[in-house]
Amino acid sequence: MARYTGADCKLCRREGSKLFLKGDRCYTDKCAVERRPYPPGEAGHKRVKEGEYRTQLREKQKAKRIYGLLEKQFHHYYEIASRQDGITGENLLRIIETRLDNIVYRLGFAMSRDEARQSIRHGHVLVNGKRVDIPSYRVRANDVISIAPKASELLVIKRAVVASERVEVPGWLEVDIEKLQGTVLALPTREQIDSDIREQLIVELYSK
Ligand code: SF4
Repeated sequence: MARYTGADCKLCRREGSKLFLKGDRCYTDKCAVERRPYPPGEAGHKRVKEGEYRTQLREKQKAKRIYGLLEKQFHHYYEIASRQDGITGENLLRIIETRLDNIVYRLGFAMSRDEARQSIRHGHVLVNGKRVDIPSYRVRANDVISIAPKASELLVIKRAVVASERVEVPGWLEVDIEKLQGTVLALPTREQIDSDIREQLIVELYSK
């Protein structure tokens, strides 16, 4: 399945909730969900009957879109999660939440996960002092994530740092914004993952 290249805001309107895909704009009154809180397209205003399957499918699509994942990647994470001890849905969220692109975004070094992926691919991100250019790299407790010294002056990083003041860093991460460095204190519990995803619906969908 090809990566979606259309307008990000349409995805939010399709899911009926803010997915925070456009960085700064998402926190302003220009946000398309705030302005047009109905699905895109001519049928947008019509009420669509919500069946169980449709609700589960929408929840999966929403999660994939928030984290910018393709179906194959997402399903792969589900398979790993289902083999782990504990609650599959929570395991799934923990796995995708500990991807390096998400961490860079959560630490405030990028304004969106998409931007974080670009910074990582361009070699701007270090893990424990070593360059890691794989956005899907999964961090572990005590890992130290930082911006490479040469990249710290880039406009894209500076803009993100300024914008990060209004976003709270989750309790399982610690950031030193002056040093452009963050630490994974521990892997997150479900309560620490700031997301309105109903992961149980996704598990039910994949379990069919
Ligand atoms: Fe979604 Fe952000 Fe666009 Fe609002 S501005 S619709 S949150 S991508």
